[in-house]
Amino acid sequence: MLLLKCPKCGQKMKYNSASGMLTKKRKRCVYCGHSFKVTDSIIKKV
Ligand SMILES: [Zn+2]
Repeated sequence: MLLLKCPKCGQKMKYNSASGMLTKKRKRCVYCGHSFKVTDSIIKKV
């Protein structure tokens, strides 16, 4: 599980992912709907 931060609205959210499959993944923010790259927005692993 990763903790991500939306670059648009700054909200944090958890992301459940298989390790090693992150580079092409995009995540849609559940708060504002903005879609961003997972790898650029990781705060930490939880
Ligand atoms: Zn957002």
